[in-house]
Amino acid sequence: MTKYIFVTGGVVSGIGKGITTASLGRLLINRGFNVMVTKIDPYLNSDAGTMNPFQHGEVFVTRDGAETDLDLGNYERFLGIDLSRDSNFTTGSVYSEVFSKERRGEYLGQTIQLIPHITDEIKERIYQIGRDSGADIVITEIGGTIGDFETPPFVEAIRQMAVEVGRENTLFMHVSLIYASPGGENKSKPTQHSIRKLQELGIQPDLLICRTSQPMDEGISKKISLLCGIGEEYIVEGRDTDLVEEIPLNFEHQGMAHLVVKRLGLEDRPPTTSVWADMVHKLKNPKSQARIAIVGKYVKGSDTYLSVKEAVKHGGIANESVAEIRWIDSETLIGEEDLEEQFEGIDGVLVPGGFGVRGIEGMIVAIRYARENRIPFLGLCLGMQCMVIEFARHAVGLKNANSSEFDEQTRYPVIDLMPDQRNLSDLGGTMRLGLYPCVLKEDTKSGTAYQQPIILERHRHRYEFNNRFRDQLESEGLCLSGLSPDESLVEIAEVLDHPWMVGSQFHPEFQSKPLSPHPLFRDFIEAALHYQQERKTLGSIAP
Ligand code: GLN
Repeated sequence: MTKYIFVTGGVVSGIGKGITTASLGRLLINRGFNVMVTKIDPYLNSDAGTMNPFQHGEVFVTRDGAETDLDLGNYERFLGIDLSRDSNFTTGSVYSEVFSKERRGEYLGQTIQLIPHITDEIKERIYQIGRDSGADIVITEIGGTIGDFETPPFVEAIRQMAVEVGRENTLFMHVSLIYASPGGENKSKPTQHSIRKLQELGIQPDLLICRTSQPMDEGISKKISLLCGIGEEYIVEGRDTDLVEEIPLNFEHQGMAHLVVKRLGLEDRPPTTSVWADMVHKLKNPKSQARIAIVGKYVKGSDTYLSVKEAVKHGGIANESVAEIRWIDSETLIGEEDLEEQFEGIDGVLVPGGFGVRGIEGMIVAIRYARENRIPFLGLCLGMQCMVIEFARHAVGLKNANSSEFDEQTRYPVIDLMPDQRNLSDLGGTMRLGLYPCVLKEDTKSGTAYQQPIILERHRHRYEFNNRFRDQLESEGLCLSGLSPDESLVEIAEVLDHPWMVGSQFHPEFQSKPLSPHPLFRDFIEAALHYQQERKTLGSIAP
């Protein structure tokens, strides 16, 4: 019988519900339970695909090509599993389904209402995940904050589920902020209010995670326990940490997973925390440090590139090193003369994915600098396309070569719209999305990294290397080291006369996990550490 855990948030958004959910999932997996996770987003968009990553953070792509909330990335990384499109749904998609059913006449003349039709659709989706996955425990996180206008239908749905499956098979976890006053005192009143709000909606939380910036004293747990009716031992401190990977260990230390298992009536099993703990130990005790410049458009909101940031970290773990990131806004590089200063001390340059012309010329400046100075470079999707443009312009001499995304009139559209992307009227969900196979050439940087002839990687793009320019670019030293099995699409390009310069049309960052760092990120960081070592040696023999 599947058990259900529901996660709600209190007081403010963005307090780490996703990481908290992922951490609990990790601890249950450590105990050998089969866990599935799902995230509900109360906004009206059908999915995250058309949302501005600057406002909403990265769009995470699942293996089956869904454009989802970035929390799915947190779940995949912490749980070490791959999720599907069923693990993320929005108010928009729920209503859309109910409207379609109504038009198809499936409701047989009924009046369609928020309750039961919308709530039934929500419940059905969560039950479906339980059935399809066969999981012992399904964790469902409700996005947003209790008190938002959008959340009540979801809260009502999970309240009803607790009645249907039995309260003993359900656990409500509330993640809320303990506010630190300017005088340094911990204040629980906002949390009490959010729990009241939840109670008004018919839900008594079983477990409370208090997000705090400073240690909680016993008094505050006692007070919340008494006033909100939550057992004192079920009030867990979720203090800020620099390393999100440490959070599961902090929770384990407080006995949280044991309480959850007990509360759900499951038999507790001894946890195997050592693999995760070893990884955290490596993260905290690096033997070296690589400095990576990420040159992109949305650098101010670093959640825009969350998976890239995490994958760089994983590349560090694989090398027993810590990869420090310097964010460079590509627009600041346009027309910049003094690049040495901007890239001072940098061991590797990375250009991530993106859309639109803003900042592109600055990315090309950075790529030229990396190529000419032999600094290891990794280009992801747009980053690969810019790497090809830079190579065409400056190594091959194709003046003003560009992607037709940025210059429709260019004489040399080395990157061009894929044929099946022409004449599309809808922008949502119509890109080349999800897993596609790629055949690798042996004895290339990518062939060496992956150590296997065929790989599967996740995509999200409309433009592609233009085959008209293959021969010309190859003859000047660009190696097309990864192709689609029918050889019609270039998936990876490498600059031959360079220690390590690789660009992938896909997004390897989506598959990287702390316990299994992605091979391209691993080798990129390794190359960055070599480059650092080389400079040190050169520096020491210089007169
Ligand atoms: N804008 C480019 C394209 O659509 C790159 C997309 C990306 O980086 N995800 O092909």
